[in-house]
Amino acid sequence: MKSSRNVVFVIGIGCSLVAIIAVILLGVTVIKKAKQNNADALTPTPVAVEKATPSPEITREIVGPSETNIDNRPTIEMTSGPIVIIDPGHGGNDGGTNGNREERTDEGKHYWECNIALDISLLVKEKLQNAGVRVVMTREEDYFCGTVVERKEFADSIEDAVCYVSIHLNAADDKSITGTEVLYNDNANSDSPVLAKYVLNGLLDKNGSRDRGLKVRDDLGVLKTQHPSCLVECEFLSADAKFPLLIDHDYQDLTAEGITNGIIKYLDYVGVME
Ligand SMILES: [Zn+2]
Repeated sequence: MKSSRNVVFVIGIGCSLVAIIAVILLGVTVIKKAKQNNADALTPTPVAVEKATPSPEITREIVGPSETNIDNRPTIEMTSGPIVIIDPGHGGNDGGTNGNREERTDEGKHYWECNIALDISLLVKEKLQNAGVRVVMTREEDYFCGTVVERKEFADSIEDAVCYVSIHLNAADDKSITGTEVLYNDNANSDSPVLAKYVLNGLLDKNGSRDRGLKVRDDLGVLKTQHPSCLVECEFLSADAKFPLLIDHDYQDLTAEGITNGIIKYLDYVGVME
């Protein structure tokens, strides 16, 4: 009896040891995984703001006037409602990025950020107007409408404007990088981060993109406006997964809807929507 008790005792100790070792191993695995997740969370998102520069041999065919057209701004088409300034990024001889894509239009031309940003911006304008918002555009065609400083000065000249939103597409050399981010200046208007957050959330809600978050960019002249302002990097034109979407009208419309929703939420927040 005694020896069988000893055997049971030894087996019991053995099983306990195995269980303890298993628990320890599991714990180590969980901690390792948590550390990995934490490391992933802490790893800064790659800096990729429109870095995919066009090849020097590619010259963009300019559709509209290439000279600064700052005196030929589109006029406000409505007489009442809060005023929002929409700035389709780049234009004219400044195409922005082409994402280093191989694809061409039916005419054999590159797809350029300035054209897609304009398409999205015009849809934002239409949606804002339908919601009773007066929209001032920095440009409505493919022309160069001023340097970032001139755009900032133009925005400041619209004294009654509630906010200013510049619309762009991002690019990176790595074609797997995707995501949406919104930039703002932390040293200009104190409401800019609020506007930026509303626009980011509105867009993510519609495009389902990876959230690259808000980015403070005090160096960007276009964001030094007296009004609350932000610059939306809708998605990466360079990305294999996003390029086909960005040139698709339905996706552009979805993007515009997201930006519009964010702007309207901001207008609600400041109490200017009727
Ligand atoms: Zn841009």
